[in-house]
Amino acid sequence: MTGIRSSLSKHNLFKRLGMIFLILASATGTYLILNQDEVPITGRSRLVSYSKEEEHELGQMGYDEMTKEYSPYFLPENNQVQNRVREIAKRIIDVTGRRDLQWECHVVNSETVNACVLPNGKIFIFSGLFEICESEDELASVLSHEIGHAVARHAAERLSISKLGYLFLTLTRGLIGETITGNLTTLFSTNLLNLRYNRIQEIEADLIGLEFMAKANYNPYAALSIQKKLQKYENSIKDTSTSISTLDFLSTHPAPEERILKIENWLNQNSSKFNFKNNQTIEKNKLGNENLANTVSKNSANVNSLSSTTRLSYLSQK
Ligand SMILES: [Zn+2]
Repeated sequence: MTGIRSSLSKHNLFKRLGMIFLILASATGTYLILNQDEVPITGRSRLVSYSKEEEHELGQMGYDEMTKEYSPYFLPENNQVQNRVREIAKRIIDVTGRRDLQWECHVVNSETVNACVLPNGKIFIFSGLFEICESEDELASVLSHEIGHAVARHAAERLSISKLGYLFLTLTRGLIGETITGNLTTLFSTNLLNLRYNRIQEIEADLIGLEFMAKANYNPYAALSIQKKLQKYENSIKDTSTSISTLDFLSTHPAPEERILKIENWLNQNSSKFNFKNNQTIEKNKLGNENLANTVSKNSANVNSLSSTTRLSYLSQK
């Protein structure tokens, strides 16, 4: 870098800027070509500069943080609802072909309506969601969406774009003689839990999730019904103090209308391919006649409950 800098300093400002631009463009182009990757199922081409090992390492750091914060509210291992949610998750995971991830699913006893997944396959379901999920199929659709994010390596993709920005900045400053200090891994592990997927990734997780649901013999129409219920829920809390979490499933973007439209298109285009059932046959939950929310409250008398209004670092609105 020092050699390039001294060479640049011999030219006038215009020439120097032109050479800096060429060096940056060439470095960025090489970086993009070397780190090109394809999303499974959708085939979308994108940048991923993290190896699966690095991704697992970051996921584990996120998992340590999440368990530190939420483990007092986890439903216990022998809990009926915890076991049922894990069975549904396993049925979906079995069709993904991703046995290398360290899949695990925790139910957090909380009024919060949400769910999220870490890049190493750790899934968190907040039991407030059971007030909205009325069937096993609907819960499977939430789990499929989260599993879709992990299989598509969406977190690694988001972090790769941030890393590109960081490297671009480092290179630019290096060329003009400034230095940046700090550990890149530490920087990005702290960003992981505040990570928000973009619009393309959210729609993609819905579409990948629909395919997993169909393959696991769940009814993909449940993805449509749960989106409509979440849309109603979001409208109902707009005027209250309840905040929408920054965790994944109930993210404020893309607009529910857009997600609903894309799901409807997928259902129309894929009904004959997968031969799934129609909108009328979404199974009611298999935990007797009671809904999951009642079952949680009956089974969790001694489990701490996390209020949705409690201010937590990863749940609060940014
Ligand atoms: Zn999502």
